[in-house]
Amino acid sequence: MRIDILTIFPDLVEGFASTSLLGKARREGIIDVNIHDLRSVAIDPHRSVDDSPFGGGAGMVLKPEPIFDTVEKVNPPRPLLYLSPSGRRLDQAYAQELSELDGFSLLCGRYEGVDERVREHLVDGEISIGDYVLAGGEIAAGVVLEAVGRLVPGMLGNYDSVEEESFSDGLVEYPHYTRPATFRSWETPEVLLSGNHKRIEDWRKAQALARTIKWRPDLIETRGGLSDSDRRLLAEFDLDET
Ligand code: SAM
Repeated sequence: MRIDILTIFPDLVEGFASTSLLGKARREGIIDVNIHDLRSVAIDPHRSVDDSPFGGGAGMVLKPEPIFDTVEKVNPPRPLLYLSPSGRRLDQAYAQELSELDGFSLLCGRYEGVDERVREHLVDGEISIGDYVLAGGEIAAGVVLEAVGRLVPGMLGNYDSVEEESFSDGLVEYPHYTRPATFRSWETPEVLLSGNHKRIEDWRKAQALARTIKWRPDLIETRGGLSDSDRRLLAEFDLDET
């Protein structure tokens, strides 16, 4: 998979993309991340990439020329997605969709954003990481990179862990415990030490259901409410349906 990122602050993204899982996956050739500095194609002596908005008002706007020129020069993989608070909200399903592509590109905005002609005539879509406004798209690009990158086969040692974690089946994840079995008098649930794999699986599913009911009832609604087997599982482990 190839992911290209267009930014005026390449160091911000490069640092993130060179560390931990992503850095290792890049070094091993599992994922190809290319970071392009929009300033490098600016030809004026100050390498300016922004200008004041026509019509007046606060802030600066990223000029169209360096963005069009960079895209025409490097031909980044499509779709080219502009990071924007008004874009399609990133969630696990969207991350999964992106991870199944051969590649895609991210354009980071700054200041008031990009000249509208970039949105109308250059990008293929817009992606948001949530309903709040950041100062720039670089951190958002890091979020997309990590959420998508870890779903690319080969990125994680144990691919099962991706299939079992939060949101993969519309539920938040069950709790985890590790050694010691007793820590400061707090016990690990007996079932996890039992060696009974079927019972452990049922307990985890029941815990995931109970946590989702408590913390994210909207997700239960999205699944169409509780099924009869969900109810039976909750009852089996004395967990509350409400
Ligand atoms: N004036 C814009 C608006 O009201 O929608 C906000 C611009 S914001 C200060 C600067 C840049 O940060 C945006 O162009 C975008 O690239 C990035 N950004 C801010 N919030 C974001 C979010 N929630 N998701 C993705 N990118 C975001």
